[in-house]
Parts: sequence; C-alpha cells; structure tokens
Amino acid sequence: ITVAALRETAAGERRVAITPEVAKKLRGKGLRVLLEHGAGASAGFPDSSYADVEFADAAAVQAQADLLACVLPPDDAVWGGLREGTVVVGQLRPYGAAARIVAMGKRKLTAFSLELLPRTTRAQAMDVLSSQAAVAGYRAMLIAAESAPKFFPMLTTAAGTIRPSRVLVIGAGVAGLQAIATARRLGAQIEGYDVRPETREQVESLGAKFLDLGVSAAGSGGYARELSAEERAAQQQALADHLKAVDVIVTTAAVPGRPSPKILTAAMVEGMKPGALIVDLAAEGGGNCELTRPGERVEHGGVVILGPLNLPAGAPLHASEMYARNVYNFVELLVQDGALKPDFNDELVAKSCVTHGGEPHFQN
Ligand code: NAD
Repeated sequence: ITVAALRETAAGERRVAITPEVAKKLRGKGLRVLLEHGAGASAGFPDSSYADVEFADAAAVQAQADLLACVLPPDDAVWGGLREGTVVVGQLRPYGAAARIVAMGKRKLTAFSLELLPRTTRAQAMDVLSSQAAVAGYRAMLIAAESAPKFFPMLTTAAGTIRPSRVLVIGAGVAGLQAIATARRLGAQIEGYDVRPETREQVESLGAKFLDLGVSAAGSGGYARELSAEERAAQQQALADHLKAVDVIVTTAAVPGRPSPKILTAAMVEGMKPGALIVDLAAEGGGNCELTRPGERVEHGGVVILGPLNLPAGAPLHASEMYARNVYNFVELLVQDGALKPDFNDELVAKSCVTHGGEPHFQN
C-alpha cells in the first residue's frame, strides 16, 4: 500500500500531513510512503529529514497513491489525478461543500473527513479538531498579547506598578481552554465563559474565574447547541455590562456545521475601553463579533478587532506533528492484513466517511 501526501496548497498553509516520525511508523507497518518533493519543508521537515521515504512530483504522487493524506482539501483538480477507489483522509471541510463531495464521489474515491469523528474516548487519538484547536488557542492568545497596548502581567517597578490586563475568553472548548492556560502563563487576570455548564470546573481548574451569564445550552455529542433568540438576548445584556472593564477578549465559540454565533455586537464593542482588543478565533466561520472581518484588522471607536485565519498553520511544526499522529491512528483503523479495508461497522469509520463507492455519505 502506498500512503502519500502532497505539498499543501491552501493559502498560508504550512503544515504537512505526514511527518518524519509518522512516515517511520507507516514504514514499520510495511506501508510504502510517497511524498511530493518539499511536502514538509514549510513545516520544518526538509526532504532529507525523512528516512526511507520516496519523493516524486505531484502528478506521480497522485497517480500512485492508494491513500492520500492531507491537512486541508487540495485543489479539486487533484481528485482527477487520483485513481478510482483511492482513499483520502484529512480535514475535508465538508460543511457547505456539497460540490467537493460530489466531485470526490464521481471519482469513486473513499474519503474520510476527520472533523466528523465522534468525540468519543476511542476517537481521541485521531481527534484533529482537538489537536489543531489547541494550537489555535495558544496562537490566538500570543497574538493578543503581542497586539495589546498593555502588558499582560502585573509589574512592580521603580517607575511604578502596572496592573495586570483583564482578559476574557469566550467559548471554553479545546481552543478556549488552551487560550486561558496561555494567558495564565503570561500573568493576566483571566475569566472564561461558555454556555456549557460543565466548562465551569475546567475554567476554574486553570486558575481562571468562570463568568456566569445565566445561559446554559449544552447540546449533543459534547457540543453546544445554537441559542434561542431569548437566550441570546439574555446573554448579550449580561455580557455588555461586564465588557466595560475588560482589556482583551479572545473569542472561540463555535457550533459544528453552523456559522459562528454572533456574541459581541457593535454596541458592546462601543461600550469597551479605548485600547481594548478582540482576537476573534472564530473568524473562519464568520466570527463571534459582528464587526470581525475574516483575515483583517478592524478599528472601531478605539477598539481593535483581529480576525486571524488558519492559526494552526502559524505553528506548523508542532501542529503537523500532532496532526500526523492523528492521521496515523486513523490509518491504522483502515489497514487490515496488509490491505486497505475500511470496516464500515466501526462507527469511527462510518461517521467520518463522506463518500464511498460513488455515493455521498454526508448530508449538508
Ligand atoms: P467547538 O469548537 O465546537 O466550540 C468551542 C466552544 O464554544 C465550546 O465549548 C462551545 O460550548 C462554545 N460555545 C458555542 N456557542 C456558544 C455561545 N453562544 N456562547 C458561548 N460559548 C459558546 O468545541 P470543541 O473545542 O471542539 O469541543 C466541544 C466539546 O467536545 C468540549 O466539551 C470538548 O471538551 C469535547 N471534546 C471531547 C473529546 C473526547 O472526549 N474525545 C475530545 C475533544 C473534545
């Protein structure tokens, strides 16, 4: 079996789906590893860092792949270069991408989108949402610290005492908790907020204060559900008053398959201190702040709103190491007796499959 990866081509992408460590593990399983020349270079893995791996140009990699691993969906033209029946594993961004799935189906590819894995204990080792969200949360808080006009920690100096920044993290999932942990290490005074009640304990265990706005919206599968109009209004009223004293907000709230909930309104931003900063990690899904423009810096009444995109690509070495291990653990599920044999009775296989045998398996 040939397990392959191409150089990622999405704008700004620097990660790679197969690292030297994982290539070695795949070889240990008796699999052949074939990479496009320079596939890992932007992540910090030049071709010379891979042992016992073959390299070729993109067209040859596509033509020979039995399993293609990717970080983000490649250009649609790539599907045409793969043979029928090739297995594709990666973050295929299936929501709102019916055309991509149809195109993959037409090529009779068997495609697995790792974002769709259920959040069960057994799936943890393959959970790309978690591994990459941790990178995103860390990076978002560093961007906040770097972009804020204030120090994060308290400083006592001969030139006087500096008060610590007040930082609020909205959304305490994997990214939010990592953002909180990062802000703590930098010495900020930190609060976390989420609609899932179980996050209180997680926020507090990181030494942050839980902000209770009296809205609870636990959904299924460990995710939040979308708030009703009344719940949203209650949340926003309670939040507006609180924000007046906050220096930095990092927002990470998401509901799978839905646009990011709009939590921060323009009016709330107008009530914040001049010099306050919002880093909207949810920018990719439209953002948690009404004023966010994905990929841009917006200034509104002295408040700066950043909407950085693809944060995991900003720490490509460790993001790739974690991602590639997730991929390896999933590929292990697919290989039996030296052949690629996905077992569709396994819920991890069945639930992550978006197309197989020409049939789409995913409803947008
Ligand atoms: P996510 O990226 O879908 O959302 C981020 C956070 O935003 C979530 O905590 C969510 O509750 C919150 N949120 C949504 N709408 C909101 C709103 N209107 N206001 C405030 N907050 C809002 O979440 P995620 O980080 O992918 O994790 C979701 C859950 O899955 C977490 O409980 C996580 O711990 C759990 N999880 C479980 C496993 C496992 O057991 N295998 C693995 C990973 C994650």
